[in-house]
Amino acid sequence: MKAKPSILRLVLGDQLNEKHSWFHQPSDNVDYVLMEVRQETDYAVHHIQKVAAFFAAMRSFAERLRELGHRVIYMRLEDPDNRQTLTDNIQYLIEREGFSQFEYLLPDEYRLDTQLQALARSLPIQCRTEDTQHFLTQREELAEFFQGKKRYLMESFYRWMRKRTDTLMDQDKPAGGKWNYDQKNRQAYDQKIPVPDPMLFENDVTDIVQSIQKKGVKTLGNIRAHQLIWPVTRDQALALLDYFVITVLPAFGTYQDAMLSTNWHLFHSRLSFALNSKLLDPLEVIQAATKAWKTQKPPIEIQQIEGFVRQILGWREYMRGIYWTLMPKLENSNYFSHRGKLPAFYWTGDTRMNCLQKTITQSLNYAYAHHIQRLMITGNFALLAGIDPQAVDDWYLGIYIDAIQWVELPNTRAMSQFADGGQVATKPYVSSARYIHAMSDYCATCTYDWKKRHGEGSCPFNSLYWDFFNRHRELLQKNPRIAMMYRSWDRMDSSRRQAILKQAREYKTNLNTL
Ligand SMILES: Cc1cc2nc3c(=O)[nH]c(=O)nc-3n(C[C@H](O)[C@H](O)[C@H](O)COP(=O)(O)OP(=O)(O)OC[C@H]3O[C@@H](n4cnc5c(N)ncnc54)[C@H](O)[C@@H]3O)c2cc1C
Ligand code: SF4
Repeated sequence: MKAKPSILRLVLGDQLNEKHSWFHQPSDNVDYVLMEVRQETDYAVHHIQKVAAFFAAMRSFAERLRELGHRVIYMRLEDPDNRQTLTDNIQYLIEREGFSQFEYLLPDEYRLDTQLQALARSLPIQCRTEDTQHFLTQREELAEFFQGKKRYLMESFYRWMRKRTDTLMDQDKPAGGKWNYDQKNRQAYDQKIPVPDPMLFENDVTDIVQSIQKKGVKTLGNIRAHQLIWPVTRDQALALLDYFVITVLPAFGTYQDAMLSTNWHLFHSRLSFALNSKLLDPLEVIQAATKAWKTQKPPIEIQQIEGFVRQILGWREYMRGIYWTLMPKLENSNYFSHRGKLPAFYWTGDTRMNCLQKTITQSLNYAYAHHIQRLMITGNFALLAGIDPQAVDDWYLGIYIDAIQWVELPNTRAMSQFADGGQVATKPYVSSARYIHAMSDYCATCTYDWKKRHGEGSCPFNSLYWDFFNRHRELLQKNPRIAMMYRSWDRMDSSRRQAILKQAREYKTNLNTL
């Protein structure tokens, strides 16, 4: 039992922010607790690299806190004392150690927020919460910004954020004269600039993998020789940021939407795990990019920097705001009433559709796919095929190294599956093979023919695309951004339309064999 008043502070696995004010000064009266629990390994079937990365980063963070003079309790998955849920472990520690106060950082997930609030209400000691000091906006700020509006337009939020944080601003005007350089960006890969080798780490996580296996935790995907390529310390995360800014950022915007069969990362930063675990601060990432714009030789074009800043200052903060605005309704939304089962090849990559085969296989091998692969390959196909958004969510929440519900859910349910009915996206992100052919080299070596809409060897994306619009006409035809699409469909010869719909029916009945 503690003789004097003492505080137990909980640090969750995605709260590894060494710069947080909690850690400015060590104190004998404060114990920090980090725990590896079944509650977190089992709420979804996660990629093995994801579980290993979080545990490795938590263990390194605990060591770092000890080095800084803090008192740390660390519960490993296999510890006999580990009760395997946050609630049970906190109650147990309070009883065992006699803490007089419990404090926690505001969780980013609704599920944990609810759980910890209930725990705090049930404890006989004083409880306090603290902000994570990570995001650039508060949970409720987006809702306040869009108050009274039907749609939440990212662009207006982003411009507000640019002004508010004085990022890429020339007094009250956007630097370079434009807010948005999308038109100059987003080209297919033309080989003009060689793709830099990715900076990969060699973190040996053998003991973690063995412990996960020993405890029978169900995971998906692969890990090569128990070596984790993702950054798990702040030093590694900073090294990756440095490497990105110097080597990769100069072509980030140009090839942001490009996809390549032989390359899984192209010009992307792969910083999402470091950001989401809070090893890195969003503002320091943005500032590293804008500093490079001012100082780097040869100079980096504004469209590369703006394209990158938009992702973090815009999309990342926006998605977090959307999450706290639309939860808990968002996690049950299903605008199109889709009920289909996720095809088995999402778990194996075993399909003849080359774009899906490449994207899924890479996701299983690296726990990573870049944004356009997630949105326009796996997400696009799931939406066209009418898969239940719950199954789609479960898949995205498990497979990616950066998947945490606050960012996964708005991206999947709202942006990719349009399950919110269009509060986030102004129209469903679907495409036929034409877009995939234009932005990638996948179609060139595919069994299917990207030009064919029906008949032997026709690309499934084509017939499913028209079938999607045809079956959801009532819900979509009033959308001005889609009206032209319906005009093209209506102009098509009736026998052709019937052939396309018949083809789509065949493909939908045989999704697993495509
Ligand atoms: C269906 C779907 C599911 C997704 N699930 C997740 C997820 O679980 N976790 C996650 O972090 N991102 C998710 N994203 C967003 C995006 O795909 C990833 O952030 C990005 O691919 C991570 O790779 P990167 O670090 O190389 O990103 P880069 O392309 O280098 O971009 C830089 C950073 O910008 C931020 N960013 C970019 N786009 C988005 C976005 N749409 N929303 C939020 N942040 C963004 C990320 O922090 C990213 O690290 C999802 C997107 C889709 C379409
Ligand atoms: S032809 Fe169709 S299935 Fe094949 S890679 Fe292209 S879009 Fe994908």
